[in-house]
Amino acid sequence: MVVLRRWTALVLALIAGVLATTTPTRAAKPPAKPPLTILISLDGFRPDYLDRGNTPSLSALAAGGARGAMRPSFPSLTYPNHYTLVTGKRPDHHGMVNNTLEDEAIPGVSFSMSNPEAVGDGRWWEQAKPIWVSAEQQGVHAGILFWPGSEARIDGVRPGRWKVFDMKMSSNDRVDTLLAWIDAKDPPLGLATLYFDRTDTEGHHYGPDSPEVNAAAAEVDAAIGRLVQGLKARGLYATTNIVVVADHGMAPQPLSGLVDVATLVDPAKVRFVSTGSVVGARALPGFEAEVAAAMLKAHPHLTCWKKEKAPARYGYGTNPRVPPIVCLADRGWYFATASAIKKRWAEHPRDGGAHGYDPFDPAMRAVFVAHGPAFRSGVVLPVFDNVDVYPLLTRLIGVKGDKGDGKLGPVKAALR
Ligand SMILES: [Zn+2]
Repeated sequence: MVVLRRWTALVLALIAGVLATTTPTRAAKPPAKPPLTILISLDGFRPDYLDRGNTPSLSALAAGGARGAMRPSFPSLTYPNHYTLVTGKRPDHHGMVNNTLEDEAIPGVSFSMSNPEAVGDGRWWEQAKPIWVSAEQQGVHAGILFWPGSEARIDGVRPGRWKVFDMKMSSNDRVDTLLAWIDAKDPPLGLATLYFDRTDTEGHHYGPDSPEVNAAAAEVDAAIGRLVQGLKARGLYATTNIVVVADHGMAPQPLSGLVDVATLVDPAKVRFVSTGSVVGARALPGFEAEVAAAMLKAHPHLTCWKKEKAPARYGYGTNPRVPPIVCLADRGWYFATASAIKKRWAEHPRDGGAHGYDPFDPAMRAVFVAHGPAFRSGVVLPVFDNVDVYPLLTRLIGVKGDKGDGKLGPVKAALR
């Protein structure tokens, strides 16, 4: 019986081979389109938030897929790391070197998250090509809900579907918007993204170990549960790859660690391009040497470098947008403007949280969870760099990406 089956198989294989070689004009079957990939950012969500018992939906995705912890890129801030996740490049290479930017080529404008005109201006983003641009250019359609950069035309391309960021839109409404995009099928999406800011906001206000952060984690977890239910109801859950990431972690930041940045150096001789946990300073003309000397020993909990002397492990300092002096605060310290400190005391006069600290500090690590047909189940990955997410995403959606700073290797163990 076994022999007969083998013979039958051999004969069939021969016939198939003859057919294949004698019908060369027949068009080859196009390769199957990769299934939908949904990339979800939970702002400021640390990997250990998964172990606090508030996240049943995320924990179920992790148990049936892979989980891990990512080291953010320097600086461990929101815009730099969101753009790293979708370009595979370090901030020094993609140009989004801080949440606030200046660029001599874009004179008179200061980029910040609260400047909608700048956020939607492609010139700030065009040093790198985000994955949705490569996707659209290669026929994979993208629905990008609230990812930094998605409001701008980059390389002449916008995502097929996108929306202006609306922080007031509830987590559930974000999920429902995405599900409606998936339903529309005109054309079907190959890449979709979601963004939830609640864990970051509550982390800043109350600190990473607060009940408020746990409640925020539960809220975004419920939204992910809603998404999973929505996919199941559409028969799409088993075929959809879901990749959950965060941009950075969160560390406690007490009120006693607030320092007025103007006390570091004579404010009449310098402009601070960025403040907070990562301070960027540019001396006014004629004061370069004096400001550099003062900043380099300005405060015992702030380490400053001339940009070209920043430690190599941070991969930071070559981009023209990086100001001449770059400083990194010790964990828990925060060098803000007098008005920002006043606002903090007025609105949240209590110890809170911050990020932007050394990306090698475990408190800055970001969550990673991946689930779907591409992933093995029960995998726990060793800590990896967030530049490695991009090669994973291009593989999942079947798009050729630009060369970045990461590689697939560290996340390969999660793949089937
Ligand atoms: Zn963030």
